[in-house]
Amino acid sequence: MKNKFFLFIIISLPLFSCVKTHQQENRITVTIEPQRYFASQLADTFFIVETMVPPGTSPETYDPSPVQLTGLDRSKAYFCIGYIGFEETWIDKLKANHRQVKFFDNSKGVSLIEIDAHAHEGHHHGKTDPHIWSSPREALTIAKNMYEALQEIDPGHAAIYTENYRQLTAQIKETDEKITDILKSSSRKAFVIYHPALSYFARDYGLVQYCIENDGKEPSPEHLKELVETVKNLQIGTIFVQQEFDRKNAEAIARETGCKLVGINPLTYDWNEEMIRIAQALADE
Ligand SMILES: [Zn+2]
Repeated sequence: MKNKFFLFIIISLPLFSCVKTHQQENRITVTIEPQRYFASQLADTFFIVETMVPPGTSPETYDPSPVQLTGLDRSKAYFCIGYIGFEETWIDKLKANHRQVKFFDNSKGVSLIEIDAHAHEGHHHGKTDPHIWSSPREALTIAKNMYEALQEIDPGHAAIYTENYRQLTAQIKETDEKITDILKSSSRKAFVIYHPALSYFARDYGLVQYCIENDGKEPSPEHLKELVETVKNLQIGTIFVQQEFDRKNAEAIARETGCKLVGINPLTYDWNEEMIRIAQALADE
């Protein structure tokens, strides 16, 4: 028995190393971890998926390391999430310096949320809310965009991508149904969060998101005072905090209102589990 096992290892070692070299030539780079989750479900037999913005850092402000910049050459494709700060700063430079890498926009066809849009002397100043992955319904669009990109860069494995895509969409729909179910029985229709990472999640499930951050900056005392009033008036039960952002203002509001603080990570690789956990934190009394 033991001998057979060693024989298995000896025979399969060259096989494994062969697979590894093959995969190293086949890389896809994505901006954030949730994209790596979707892309891995679709393509991890054929591609290594790498994330530009490391866990624990903010994709609004992250700057890539020199190693990441040169390493991008090993990727066949780059999947953009669309409007996040990192991409607004870097994507044109990445495109210009890595012409052999194919860039795909995962936000194509997403119903976007415009923030702080105001007309000003005939010009229109708007900013697009980038957090599209917090919506299971838009996650279906992200998955579709990735699926079509894979068909384009690797048409030889089209049938496998089609089957993986079918499974992934089924899983996303199941996540959506679970969240709908969890929130159905809850009377809470609003929540507070430091940074507006859940705008699309809120839209999917008819919730109202109140942000502590004010236009990307520290909140003013007036803004905090208004928030405390809102929490009391609407009987909001949950304040979400994220590891990338300050929590002292959230703690102050929680102390004053009796709200519970819940740490979440909408940027985690474990996308479906985290979405369900967020819904549970909202629904729990
Ligand atoms: Zn953000």
